[in-house]
Amino acid sequence: MPIYEYICEECLKKFELVRSISQADDAAVCASCRSAKTHRIVSKCFSKGDHLSGNNSAGSCQSCSGGSCSHCGH
Ligand SMILES: [Zn+2]
Repeated sequence: MPIYEYICEECLKKFELVRSISQADDAAVCASCRSAKTHRIVSKCFSKGDHLSGNNSAGSCQSCSGGSCSHCGH
């Protein structure tokens, strides 16, 4: 299942959830403060890699570390 990144509007912390695609836009509860005021954010490395494709492919992803990013295949 893909990993989705969410940000909490209460404490502004980001967290990740592994969900099925059909659940991607469901309300996610903040892992830190348990607030339901969260929204999904688009993975930075996905949009960044998209933007830089063909320009600078090496080391262009700063938002994923190790194997945590399912979008860019790191
Ligand atoms: Zn929170």
